[in-house]
Amino acid sequence: MPSPYYFLKHFVPFTGYPYTGAPAACNLCGCCDAVIVAETDRRLKTIKSIACTQCGLIRTDPMPTPDELAEYYTTSYRVDYQLAFAGGPPRHHLVRSAREAAFRADLLKDRLVPGKALLDFGSGSGEFLAEARRRGCEVIGVEPGRDYADHARKRYGVAVLNDADEDSFPAGAFDVISTHHVLEHLRDPADVMERLSRWLKPDGVLHAAVPNMAATGKPPHERFHFAHVHGYVRETFDLLARRAGLVPHEAYPREDTTVVYRKTAAPMPPLGNPGLAQRLVTELRTTRPAVYLVSGAWIWPAIRRNAKAVRDGLAKS
Ligand SMILES: [Zn+2]
Repeated sequence: MPSPYYFLKHFVPFTGYPYTGAPAACNLCGCCDAVIVAETDRRLKTIKSIACTQCGLIRTDPMPTPDELAEYYTTSYRVDYQLAFAGGPPRHHLVRSAREAAFRADLLKDRLVPGKALLDFGSGSGEFLAEARRRGCEVIGVEPGRDYADHARKRYGVAVLNDADEDSFPAGAFDVISTHHVLEHLRDPADVMERLSRWLKPDGVLHAAVPNMAATGKPPHERFHFAHVHGYVRETFDLLARRAGLVPHEAYPREDTTVVYRKTAAPMPPLGNPGLAQRLVTELRTTRPAVYLVSGAWIWPAIRRNAKAVRDGLAKS
């Protein structure tokens, strides 16, 4: 068990997180030059985020080590992120997840037909797996969160692995792969994207979604979170996919950083997005935390968030 001190350190505003980390090169292009885009996160805690000057990929600096991330996930993540305690996913999460799964399945409806093989990488509580199987697909999930994986197995009877390495699946094993809000959590998303691409059939599709760091309508610092060690905008998400031999599929609509990708044999362009890092510095310029706190602008998002959780809870009961 972590000490109460460790736990508290995750929640006291205007202080740093209990981690040391280590400097890292850009995971997408390998460049080491970067500019600072934020020094505070959505809990008003201090944490530095930088954008790669060559490609614009945002990363936490210093990067938490694998052990530090693991400790965070086993102690503070649920409470901090989903207001959930031990005992499986909370009801408002399941309601939201089912709604999102139905939306994703409708977008991919021409692909989710009997006989197709589907992988949900980061399958969470299993709603998308259940929906795809209902449409006749053979499905398998990968989910490191033990309680969520157990929930999916018990409630929907679907197969879920707790982890997947290179050799978990043969090349070209799947018609459809989905990865929903996973790549922002990973220290090595470029490697995982390549793996997903390799597991995809030549005519398969990858549905990938991450938060859009350039989204309007919320204060910039609210986009930053300790668990999100990488941050994407359209250009960097597409470049991450491009590095793995994938391009946006013309037949599907995209919504910023929610994209259906297909394979391409076209030669790889240079791994860069000139000028993007500087643009992000401007777009993500934070209101000074103290000013934000005094302004009271944080009250409404907080109320909305909680109202949504209550509404979702009621909708299910
Ligand atoms: Zn880069």
